[in-house]
Amino acid sequence: MNRFYIWTIGCQMNKADSERLASNLENIGYRQVERAEEADTIVLNSCSVRQSAEDKVINKLSNLKALKRKRPDVTLALTGCMVNSNLEGLKERYPHVDFFLKPQKLDDLLAYAEEQTSQDEPEDTPVQVQSPTAYVPIIHGCNNFCSFCIVPYRRGREKSRPMTEIIAEIESLSDRGVKEVTLLGQNVDSYGNDLSDRPDLSDLLQELNQIDGLARIRFLTSHPKDMSQKLIDTIASLDKVCEHISLPAQSGDNEILKAMRRGYTIEQYCELISRIRYAIPDVALSNDIIVGFPNESSDQFQRTFDFLEEYKFDTVHVAVYSPRPGTIASRKMEDNIPSTEKQDRLRKIEELQERISIDKTSRLVGQTVEVLVEGRKGNKWQSRTRSDKLVFFSHDESCLGKLLQVKIDHAGPWSLQGTPVTSDNLCTK
Ligand code: SF4
Repeated sequence: MNRFYIWTIGCQMNKADSERLASNLENIGYRQVERAEEADTIVLNSCSVRQSAEDKVINKLSNLKALKRKRPDVTLALTGCMVNSNLEGLKERYPHVDFFLKPQKLDDLLAYAEEQTSQDEPEDTPVQVQSPTAYVPIIHGCNNFCSFCIVPYRRGREKSRPMTEIIAEIESLSDRGVKEVTLLGQNVDSYGNDLSDRPDLSDLLQELNQIDGLARIRFLTSHPKDMSQKLIDTIASLDKVCEHISLPAQSGDNEILKAMRRGYTIEQYCELISRIRYAIPDVALSNDIIVGFPNESSDQFQRTFDFLEEYKFDTVHVAVYSPRPGTIASRKMEDNIPSTEKQDRLRKIEELQERISIDKTSRLVGQTVEVLVEGRKGNKWQSRTRSDKLVFFSHDESCLGKLLQVKIDHAGPWSLQGTPVTSDNLCTK
C-alpha cells in the first residue's frame, strides 16, 4: 500500500488544505505515516508569509535531498504559498521535487496518486480516529493588498465557494461525527461578494446553524473594515456560533495603519470592538499585531501598547515585521527598525498580554464551562471552550468528541485545568 506523509507550516488555511488532502488520499487507499522516511509520497505544504517560515521549508527541502537520492521512486510534492508564478525558478532550485502545486491545484496530485493505487492490491487500513473538529475553507485569496502581505500575490484574488457546496460538505462532516467546524478565509467578511446571488457570511451561518449534530461553528479571519453590524447581530443570535472573533488590528497608530494600507483608523477599530462587546457581552477577541514596521517610532509603538492595555484582548499574536519580497512595503519602505528594538517591542507586548490573559483566565476558576474534547495531550484530555480557551482534565473513560461540563480548578495564561462535573455527562453526547 502507498504511504504518505504531509508536513504543514503556516496558517489554518494550509492546515485545512493538508487535512483535506490527507482525507482524499485515505479515501483512495493511501495510509498516513508519521515520518517522511516511511512514506512513498511526501507533501510539504509551505508558507512564505514570514521569512522564518520560508527558511524552515527550505531547510526541510534540502534535508529531503538525501532521501530522494536514496529512494528516487519517492514522490515529493511542494504546495502552499511558496509555489508562485515563478515555477521555472523553483524547478531550477529544487530539481529533486516532482510536483509544484498551487494551493488550489491539489487535485493534480490526487489524480497522480489514484493512478498509482490502481496498480496496487488493496490492503486493510487501520481505522482512523475521527477528529471532532474540522476546518472548512469558504473563500480563497484576498483582494486587500495590505502593504506587508504576500498572500494576495501567492493565493490570488478572492474566490468564494458556493453556499450549497459548503453546506453539503459540513452536513457530510457532521454525519461522520464532526461536532465543530471552523470556516476559513483570509477575509471571511468578503464571503459571497463574487457569487452571483451575493450571499454573505451571515446567510451562510444561518444555514449552517440548522445542521443536526453540529454543535459549534467558528470562523476566521475577519477584517475590521468589512465586519458588518448584520454579522455581529447574527453571531449574537445563533446558538451554535461561538462567541469568539479573530479581528487583527495590526497596529494602534493611524499613520502606521495607513502605511500598512489597512483601510481603517484605530478609532474606527475601537468603535467596532465596542459594538461587538455590547451585542455579545461574553465575546472573546483575538488580535494580531506587527511590531517594527518601517518607520514605527517609539511613540507609535507606545500607542499600540496603550491600545492593547486599554482594550484587553483575550489573545494577541504578535509578530516582528520582516519584509517579504514582492510586497508594497518591501518595494517602497526601508526596513529601518533595528532587530534588537523589534525584539524589545515584541517582548513588551508579550509580557503585557501574559498579564492580561492570566487576569482573564483566572476569572474562570470555580466556574463550570462547556468544553468540546479534541484529543489527548500527554496523560490528559485536551478540550476547548466556546471562547477558544484550552482546558485540560483527567478522566479514565474515552471523552473524544464529547461536549462536557468542566469545573475550572486552575488557570494559567494560555490554558486551564479542570474536572468534569459529573461522570454521567461523559455519556450524554
Ligand atoms: S487582509 Fe491584508 S493581511 Fe489579510 S490576507 Fe489580505 S492582504 Fe494579507
